[in-house]
Amino acid sequence: MKSPLDQSVAAMDLASSFGREYLLEIPERRVSPSESSITELVSFDEDLPTEGLGAMNTIEHLASKGSPATVASAAGRFFGLVVGGSLPAALGARVVTSAWDQVVLSDATSPIGAKLEEVASEWVLELLGLPTNCSVGFVTGTTMGNFLSFAAARYALLKNKGWDVQTQGLWGAPRIRIIASEQIHITAKKALSMLGMGIDAIEYVPCDEDGVIIPEQIPEVDDHCLVILQAGNVNSGALDPVGEVCEKLSGSGAWVHVDGAFGLWSAVGDVHDGALVGMENADSWVTDGHKWLNTPYECGIAICRHPDAVHNSMATVAPYLEIGGNVAPKDMVPEFSRGAKAAEVWAAIRSLGRNGLQTMFERNCAQAKLAATLLKGAGFEIMNKVVLNQVVVTLDQGSHVLPEVAKRVVSSGDAWFGPTVWRGKTALRLSFSSWVTSEEDVRIAVNAIIREAKDMSLL
Ligand SMILES: *Cc1c(COP(=O)(O)O)cnc(C)c1O
Repeated sequence: MKSPLDQSVAAMDLASSFGREYLLEIPERRVSPSESSITELVSFDEDLPTEGLGAMNTIEHLASKGSPATVASAAGRFFGLVVGGSLPAALGARVVTSAWDQVVLSDATSPIGAKLEEVASEWVLELLGLPTNCSVGFVTGTTMGNFLSFAAARYALLKNKGWDVQTQGLWGAPRIRIIASEQIHITAKKALSMLGMGIDAIEYVPCDEDGVIIPEQIPEVDDHCLVILQAGNVNSGALDPVGEVCEKLSGSGAWVHVDGAFGLWSAVGDVHDGALVGMENADSWVTDGHKWLNTPYECGIAICRHPDAVHNSMATVAPYLEIGGNVAPKDMVPEFSRGAKAAEVWAAIRSLGRNGLQTMFERNCAQAKLAATLLKGAGFEIMNKVVLNQVVVTLDQGSHVLPEVAKRVVSSGDAWFGPTVWRGKTALRLSFSSWVTSEEDVRIAVNAIIREAKDMSLL
């Protein structure tokens, strides 16, 4: 007798053969999808089927019509959005955990899911050099990691004023002052607004021309203040001097948060130029798996020195229990039902080890430097200090047409990246974040940029 799950087995086989084919084609294919593959997406405009079309047919449709219309972010020449590809182990972990379909509410609903969170948490703290008693929450990205951290900060800072935000809400609450780098990421603002903390009242601290916060400009703070720093400016890659700021504010009672979506990992490689020395003195830190750690998407990591504040803001039951021993994941993150997210972080770290990760981060930084040197040699202006994995490049004259250069390169299929605005000037932003990227990829992308710029008589 055939079990219904035989269909799942067949689906898994078919899906992995399509996945295999997709990955094999990546090195040869365009990074951006062709126009015709986008036109063919009309094949998805089907009427809601009355009778089901079946699993095999559905998977085949998805893979054969869908794959060509992907942006090949798994390719070595995808330089957009500060995100990398998926390390082989992390990709494999996702496939295995997809078959498992665990709901990691607690160690009762998924012993392995909870175990992986525990081990991955310890490893992440050790890699980043953060205190071992921090809580680590696996969320869908830095946006939600910021949300989690700000919720915990809101709880703790209001508690300092004798106000319990969980039960009393924000109506009539004492005001929390929010002090942030003027380069604060848009998603950190979004997290603040989702929490009812408002963004109009943010007190912005000026940055230097690279986007690094100027510590002397941080106002007097007290235990009523949330201070938001960045490790990794989304354009320049610049790192705020987190340790220095923590030292300056120590004893004030202010909550210092570090948004390190990609840049926090520079603490693993020796590539942070000292900026992150002492970062362990902050209160909360957030980073992504799906950016520089090269896990598949929907993987963020929120770390907090005050697990009780996280628990008090996130727990679904008995929020005022003293926490000790094992706290269920569902009581430490915004999500309730969620998969074995930590598996991919665990797999990425386990497969490369500290040295392999360091090599990957350092390689990407070297690629950024190489691209900057080549572009500068061709007549471009490099706008940032290339200390990390980011290059912001513009032209003395004609910078306003750089979005057209980006568009041409993207539509040639040679590479994928976008324009940005940096210090009021239009520029191109290249992010080197993928484990796949080779020196050859860097050269192809740079040559494509030079080719299009010359074609437009910009060089
Ligand atoms: C990408 C990024 C975010 C948002 O992260 P998501 O994973 O997309 O939610 C926040 N802050 C910084 C500095 C980023 O680079």
